[in-house]
Amino acid sequence: MTIVPCSETPAVLAPGATIGILGGGQLGRMTVMAATRLGYRCHIFCQSPDEPAAQIASHATIAAFDDTGALDRFAAAIDVATLEFENIPLASVEHLEARVAVRPGAKVLAVAQDRIREKDFITAAGIATAPYRAVANGGDLAGAVAELGTPAILKTARLGYDGKGQVRIGRGTDLDEAWAKSGAGASTGGAVLEGFVEFEREISVIAARGVDGATASYVPVENRHANHILDRTIVPAPVSSDVAATATDIAHRLVESLQLTGLLAVEMFVGRDGNVLVNEIAPRPHNSGHWTLDACAVSQFELLVRAVCGLPLGSTERDADATMKNLIGDEGDDWQAYLADPTARLHLYGKAEARPGRKMGHVTWLTPRTEP
Ligand code: AMP
Repeated sequence: MTIVPCSETPAVLAPGATIGILGGGQLGRMTVMAATRLGYRCHIFCQSPDEPAAQIASHATIAAFDDTGALDRFAAAIDVATLEFENIPLASVEHLEARVAVRPGAKVLAVAQDRIREKDFITAAGIATAPYRAVANGGDLAGAVAELGTPAILKTARLGYDGKGQVRIGRGTDLDEAWAKSGAGASTGGAVLEGFVEFEREISVIAARGVDGATASYVPVENRHANHILDRTIVPAPVSSDVAATATDIAHRLVESLQLTGLLAVEMFVGRDGNVLVNEIAPRPHNSGHWTLDACAVSQFELLVRAVCGLPLGSTERDADATMKNLIGDEGDDWQAYLADPTARLHLYGKAEARPGRKMGHVTWLTPRTEP
């Protein structure tokens, strides 16, 4: 077996190299498509050959994320690794990182996969979040609620997504029940209690940082949720130029502070007075960037490939404005109607079974670009 230490990974990986991707979902699938277009090979590390990315990649390692033998074989077969999913055991990423460059690496992942570390990091970077308190166990919850007041939201520190592991706390809420309902415990690293933000809208910015430290970002977009899951993304976000500039500046400051190589999606709340608070960050392609596939010369997936392979980042300008709608659960059954709509650009992820809440695909509609 050839083990390539990180330090020997060349800064520029030319087309023909193999990109390893941890995770096999739709974000990985669309990254494979972008990488393939540029002449790279992709090797997916995931749990089933049916996963959306494994279906189309040239190679796949099917194993548990903590299978160190499989991680060693994966490392030997790839030139660089990236990830499309945050909830990968940190120890596995550290194991991999000792053998091959992982972009972004374990240090960034450690911040992004734990809401307490994430908020501490963002705060230390001088960027505002909702008021929060770390809650180590159920016994600490009453004190945290007394300090922050209600309404508030209790979130598991780790392993929560799409609203899972979250409980709203009001004045009369039984705190023992709320703690139990959140599922927080030692396995989730405890929880964080956040003050409830009366936001006007939710926006996000996707930024990239290359091997050479160059940065780029897409225009801020608005995200509208249904049942805690992203339903629609509106491009550009209908916010003032000041809010857009603040949000973009925050995303660039965070990629710099993290010294990340790859992508960072920054989800933010915009208050009625125009203040911008960071909700969470994700060091990977993001659902709110799917519109870039149809509206930009360089999609977020290609931007990730360019960043991790040491290529020029290219243009993140958009050619058009856009609305992206997720097809969740049985909405995926509407594919024929979208095919019949001459203005719809349909993307399906190859998932056989439509379970409630499962992202089956998305549709993008373009309209002529407005300024900025
Ligand atoms: P998250 O998993 O942190 O992205 O939260 C899922 C969704 O819950 C967000 O997109 C918001 O719509 C809502 N939410 C999360 N945190 C807060 C908060 N502190 N105040 C108000 N709404 C929130």
